Amino acid sequence: MADIQLYGASWCPDCRRAKKFLADQRVPYEWHDIETDPDGVDVVQERNDGKNIIPTLIFPDGSHLAEPSNEELAEKIGLERMAMQHVYDLIIVGGGPAGLTTAIYAARENLDTLIVDSKGLGGQAGITERLDNYPGFPDGIGGAELADRFVKQAERYGVEMLQAVSVTSVIDDGHRELGVETATGDHYHARAVLLATGSSYRRTEAEGEEDLIGAGVHFCATCDGPFYKGSDELMVIGAGNSGLEEGLFLTQFTGKVTIVERGDTLRGSKLLQDKVLNHPKIEVQLRHGVKTFRAKDDGSGKLGAVVVEDLESGEATERHPAGVFVFIGLDPNTGFLGDLVSLDEGGFVVTDPTFMTNFPGVFAAGDVRRGSTKQLASAVGEGAAAAIQIRGYLDRLEASA
Ligand SMILES: Cc1cc2nc3c(=O)[nH]c(=O)nc-3n(C[C@H](O)[C@H](O)[C@H](O)COP(=O)(O)OP(=O)(O)OC[C@H]3O[C@@H](n4cnc5c(N)ncnc54)[C@H](O)[C@@H]3O)c2cc1C
Repeated sequence: MADIQLYGASWCPDCRRAKKFLADQRVPYEWHDIETDPDGVDVVQERNDGKNIIPTLIFPDGSHLAEPSNEELAEKIGLERMAMQHVYDLIIVGGGPAGLTTAIYAARENLDTLIVDSKGLGGQAGITERLDNYPGFPDGIGGAELADRFVKQAERYGVEMLQAVSVTSVIDDGHRELGVETATGDHYHARAVLLATGSSYRRTEAEGEEDLIGAGVHFCATCDGPFYKGSDELMVIGAGNSGLEEGLFLTQFTGKVTIVERGDTLRGSKLLQDKVLNHPKIEVQLRHGVKTFRAKDDGSGKLGAVVVEDLESGEATERHPAGVFVFIGLDPNTGFLGDLVSLDEGGFVVTDPTFMTNFPGVFAAGDVRRGSTKQLASAVGEGAAAAIQIRGYLDRLEASA
């Protein structure tokens, strides 16, 4: 038995939490819905003295946990959640491509470096099915494999890394030190902090969306559009600048692009609106919203149908685009920062050309930074550049002490 066996039901919030926790840590598991798998009920009852307790997780060593908390799960799968020291030269908040690259550069410069990530190391790259535009991999590379390579390289240089630990605040500790507080109740000190917490694509929250991400539901046309070369139809959700731009971009791969928008007008720039409205391959459906994403019934786990609802009449129609691209906004992961550093109107961290924020010693790189291009190669480039600037800042700090 290679993977963890997870028994639960689709209506059970604790089961969804356990699934999300394992997925966030990129721990493979097999899902058994006890409502559709009759043997599942027997397994659950046998493990729990005849009781129906879900989620029940059975581990490769034969042991099981019933209704475990995230902390119990973290301990069981061997996640390190407390750092070895209290003081570091550099603490990196976020272990995605930007944070991991900064860590590799910093550790090579002998800076004592700690990465803290609220989910699994690798960030969004780690949960991306396939990356086709990252230089150096002419045949593309799986996101999880690339993330593992980043992590291995960071390990080789002795970077300390914590997973499933959220940073809850970064504070001024005085005496030219910064404090980093975590949801596990720990407080670490550093002379410099890098914010590399990325941003989250807003979801439609329609039924079925979560399970089909990367399997027909996407958030980046530049990244995933080429997978649909030769398809009959693609769907774009959202008619702001991104939706219109990406919709136009997608026309090169498919016979038709349908843009679905809840509002009663297109919201992008006038120029983009004109291009979209005059494009022979684009159809716009205003005052419509996605109700459900449904997987194919061939067991492939890929998108099979999308149910779109007319918001005025309530009429629902089933559509069959090859893929759906959601562009309804992006939220930077900056809520934990309070008013420590300047943020722009969208909540992205403002930096100077040296990647430093307005708070001395606090830097930012990657998707969380104002003006970043939300691409993996750029996040890696920003991570490397920030590391060099941090080295210079720490040298100057030392010289002035
Ligand atoms: C589905 C999908 C497909 C993509 N495909 C491509 C592609 O093909 N090509 C391409 O170039 N780009 C692609 N991208 C974009 C690319 O993945 C991102 O640009 C890149 O990952 C950004 O790196 P980052 O390190 O800045 O942020 P992220 O990768 O977002 O990493 C940020 C990390 O910070 C952690 N974090 C957040 N808040 C906290 C906190 N409070 N405490 C501790 N940790 C925290 C998160 O858990 C996360 O691990 C894709 C993105 C998605 C979502």
